[in-house]
Amino acid sequence: MVSRFRRGSSDEERLRLKQIGMIFEPETGLFSCKIITDSGMFASEQMLQVVKISQEYGNGMLACTEDESILIQGIAKDHTNEVLACLKEYDIRTGGTGRRVRPVVSCEEGICDYGIYDVKKLGEKFQALFYHRMSEEALPEKLEIALDGCPNNCSASTQYDIGIHGVRVPVFNMRSCMGCMRCTVLESCSKGAISRDAHGIVVNEQKCSRCGDCVKVCPYGTTSESTAGYRVYVGGRRGEKNMIGRKLSRIFTTEESLFSVVDRIIFFYQEEGRKGERLFETIERIGFREMERRVLA
Ligand code: SF4
Ligand code: SF4
Ligand code: SF4
Repeated sequence: MVSRFRRGSSDEERLRLKQIGMIFEPETGLFSCKIITDSGMFASEQMLQVVKISQEYGNGMLACTEDESILIQGIAKDHTNEVLACLKEYDIRTGGTGRRVRPVVSCEEGICDYGIYDVKKLGEKFQALFYHRMSEEALPEKLEIALDGCPNNCSASTQYDIGIHGVRVPVFNMRSCMGCMRCTVLESCSKGAISRDAHGIVVNEQKCSRCGDCVKVCPYGTTSESTAGYRVYVGGRRGEKNMIGRKLSRIFTTEESLFSVVDRIIFFYQEEGRKGERLFETIERIGFREMERRVLA
């Protein structure tokens, strides 16, 4: 007979199980086990083991979650320890719950031509640095991080607590501009950031998303140079009330500088956040400018 965990059963035990990735399903009285992937990557050998466990201890159903984790559904309370032991044997990690950094999400840059950097590789580094390394560190609330390879924002990273976009900042060499009748730079820009006047092109910095589409398209070299980097959005939110995070004023051109600023944002949240407060609420209370001053110092 399947042992169900009744509503009202020990909250402490439920919380303990949740902390290690065993999430209570109130509808069924059973548990779902949350398995963490590395930016959506998972070895096929491990997947076979997950399938076996699902068939033996669960209800045979696996679910993919928005944060690129896998849920083994329908596990009876009495089998939770056996499931965790089987997963450990294959070095399969569970967790991704509670008031801490959640598994890092990334876009599908690997099968897309627009990526300005290798999202999967950077995602693995983020997962190691901010999810695994900080898995024991308590935060005021959960903190979600997402990476997008370019400003197209396919993972909606701007709506995460911390969102990263790959950007390519064109360096405009206006002296080269000949004011041609047909301007390839203007044609390449879908954001409406380029216009023309009597002397040549005019760039609207506010409209420019730093997508890099205009780089190297000018036959006279007006856009032959560029700098690749990362733009960081802070304080987004998903769910009932979606919110777009605000971008930091600096663009980060090395991985080290990116890791450092993300570290500082998390430290700021640990220092200033009140229990139960999401990052956007902490920023609303303290002020975006003050937060930015401290994380860019
Ligand atoms: S965000 Fe950019 S790189 Fe990532 S999948 Fe979308 S278009 Fe491709
Ligand atoms: S940016 Fe290049 S293509 Fe456009 S008007 Fe100037 S020289 Fe011509
Ligand atoms: S980087 Fe993108 S948005 Fe900016 S001017 Fe070039 S094409 Fe337009």
